[in-house]
Amino acid sequence: MVIHVVGAGVAGLSAGTALLDAGADVLVHEAAPMPGGRCRSYDDPEIGRRIDTGTHLLLGANVHALAYLRRLGALDRMIEGVPAAYPFIDLSSGRRWIVRPPFRGLASALHPVALAALNTEPRESSWRRLGAVFGRLLTESACRPWIASTGIGDAMVDPAAARLGDRLALGRRLTALETDGLRIQRLVFGQERVPLAPGDRVILAVPPHAAAQLLPDLMFPTEHRAIVNAHFQVQETSPAPRLIGCVGGLAQWLLWRGDVISVTVSAADRLIGETPAALAKRFWPEVARAFELGGTPVSARIVKERRATIAATPAMERLRPGTRTRFANLSLAGDWIRTGLPATIESAVRSGAIAARLALA
Ligand SMILES: Cc1cc2nc3c(=O)[nH]c(=O)nc-3n(C[C@H](O)[C@H](O)[C@H](O)COP(=O)(O)OP(=O)(O)OC[C@H]3O[C@@H](n4cnc5c(N)ncnc54)[C@H](O)[C@@H]3O)c2cc1C
Repeated sequence: MVIHVVGAGVAGLSAGTALLDAGADVLVHEAAPMPGGRCRSYDDPEIGRRIDTGTHLLLGANVHALAYLRRLGALDRMIEGVPAAYPFIDLSSGRRWIVRPPFRGLASALHPVALAALNTEPRESSWRRLGAVFGRLLTESACRPWIASTGIGDAMVDPAAARLGDRLALGRRLTALETDGLRIQRLVFGQERVPLAPGDRVILAVPPHAAAQLLPDLMFPTEHRAIVNAHFQVQETSPAPRLIGCVGGLAQWLLWRGDVISVTVSAADRLIGETPAALAKRFWPEVARAFELGGTPVSARIVKERRATIAATPAMERLRPGTRTRFANLSLAGDWIRTGLPATIESAVRSGAIAARLALA
């Protein structure tokens, strides 16, 4: 019995490595030339550094993501912020304070935390999803930030790709699923058609729009929210990663790691039309103020992810499908599957683990 996993984002890697660890015969097919999907690091020619597509933060509450890292022997590639303490700055007034979760100062951080967790303005977010976020943040350890010491790809992606070895095929896009109405009969990769034996199974771990192209009658969330990141290379080097939450400006979170400072803006659809140069010009004074830097950055890179995550609105939440499909040998994985979690790494890891368990059952 072969289990085919389509998509090597975190969900596909979670499923693929769980299946491999359970002794299954697994093949992971990824369309892109590199694994990791939306959660990856890459060599950026503009600033001459390996950077993350966007800053990815885990919390102590992300028990599934942390268990995945532990299983892959990669937990030491993350730095746990102990005790949980989040420096904040009001960019308009310069006022600074520290939020010490779970409760001290949390009121001042509710909006930025909700925005970061849901990638959707809290006023339009599902109350259920908001409740799920804050309901998991009731202890100090659950609120601790976990930051990748070098890059999120080094922690979440590379160890999984190494574990899979030649069971991970890159540049291999699934273009069609052929069915007899009850089961998937063949996987089509361009000109190549791969027949499935009776016991073979498929886990489709691709984003919603890609899944909908392959499964035309699939119910799926259609609205997304953007995330915009700016990465500035600076003269100075921070000996340890420094995270600052921001209010009163454009930037929402700043992470200084090595000689690169990354700015994150969630629910950033209004910024998508702005040129990279204009955005860099708006962000840099905020970065300089928060970290008390003079001068100008060595180089800058703006990364716009239009479909960073599904919108966490009540209407989109209702459209999240479950793991099972109407085809007996096909299940779904991805951050957008109905896991009870916001569409984050935690949801992606969890969805992959659930799909793997179902495939083995
Ligand atoms: C800028 C940014 C910042 C973020 N910050 C955080 C954060 O701080 N914390 C957090 O928890 N989450 C964060 N997220 C969300 C997190 O990145 C996602 O929830 C997670 O990576 C989704 O993983 P996935 O495997 O479900 O999907 P994806 O990463 O989209 O993976 C799907 C994979 O399927 C492949 N694929 C698509 N079509 C096909 C096909 N036909 N055949 C084969 N392969 C195909 C794609 O190439 C891709 O590799 C952030 C996202 C972005 C964009």
